[in-house]
Amino acid sequence: MKKSKEKITDIKSITFSELTKYVKDLGEQSYRAEQIFNAIHNNMVPQIMDIHVLPKDLRAKLQQRFPGRKMEILEKYDSKLDEVSKYLILLHDKNIIETVLMKYKFGYTQCISTQVGCRMGCAFCASTKNGLIRNLTPAEMIDQIYLVQKNQDIDVRNVVLMGSGEPLDNYDNVLDFLRIIHSPKGKNMSYRNITLSTVGLVPQIYKLAEEKIPITLSISLHSPFDEKRKEVVPMAHKYSISEIISACENYLDLTSRRITIEYALVKDFNDRKKDAAKLQELLRNMLYHINLIPVNPVVEFDLAKPGSKAVRRFYNDLKSRGMNVTIRRELGNDINAACGQLRQYYLDNMGTKF
Ligand code: SAH
Repeated sequence: MKKSKEKITDIKSITFSELTKYVKDLGEQSYRAEQIFNAIHNNMVPQIMDIHVLPKDLRAKLQQRFPGRKMEILEKYDSKLDEVSKYLILLHDKNIIETVLMKYKFGYTQCISTQVGCRMGCAFCASTKNGLIRNLTPAEMIDQIYLVQKNQDIDVRNVVLMGSGEPLDNYDNVLDFLRIIHSPKGKNMSYRNITLSTVGLVPQIYKLAEEKIPITLSISLHSPFDEKRKEVVPMAHKYSISEIISACENYLDLTSRRITIEYALVKDFNDRKKDAAKLQELLRNMLYHINLIPVNPVVEFDLAKPGSKAVRRFYNDLKSRGMNVTIRRELGNDINAACGQLRQYYLDNMGTKF
């Protein structure tokens, strides 16, 4: 096993090839790894001791090496407006994360968290209010999906890494999560059904492009002007928009995956005619899709959501320029389903319990 993996305590955090090697090192045949992976990732067996196809002594050895960590659903909120459920999940160390399940015509999409908190500091995002607490392990990302699948007796086939956290700031764990969830011996989720959203960490975008895993890359742009972007996205001081666009063009070249541009619309800030014109100029050489998200107001910040007419106007402006754009359907507004809002609400109001 890789050196950095020495501290792994949950068997769900290891890839199929690592598990195969581990099993062989124990003197077992490699088909045992297939049995284990199938039990964990397809049958979602809760405990290693419940994998009855394995001999008892092997189960005991595995259990000792990978004791696992408890994770449970703390609260579940079902939207009355649309088919969205939001979950608060309690981790073994009493930290709380959130995950959201959305039902679309084509099936279920789950939005998962990659960190407890976040250190990117974006002005309108509730997840970053208290900074980064810690990274999530691959198992903790996977378990968000398995807990929800079991809770609703469904099969989640689409995942977006858009919950709390910056996925590319937890690069190695996120990469292992992707490899594990994609493994044909396990859940076998298509990379094409996975979207990773980033604030735009340029070196990691280049690195990701080299991994040859064709997931959709989504960039949280929010403004086509560096000076404006710096007002809401601190990372904009580190990486310029043109550096991000070059990294995206490289990603597109290597993966052939269309880039998504996330654009949280803020009244009188980034919904003007000149924003539309500059966006068009920026993206002229790229295959992209823009997602407009009317900003969800966060109490501490003075950023207003544009009225629906202004949203339409901006959308029509982009459309008339021949740009590829949609307005993101706002789901789960009645249950604080936007980024980090529910966890924050919970911590502010009930968090003292922990
Ligand atoms: N850190 C990653 C992923 C998490 S946030 C990133 O920055 O992309 C997922 C998306 O929701 C980002 O585009 C983020 O900017 C956006 N977002 C966060 N808070 C929001 C809010 N209050 N209203 C609208 N969009 C928000």
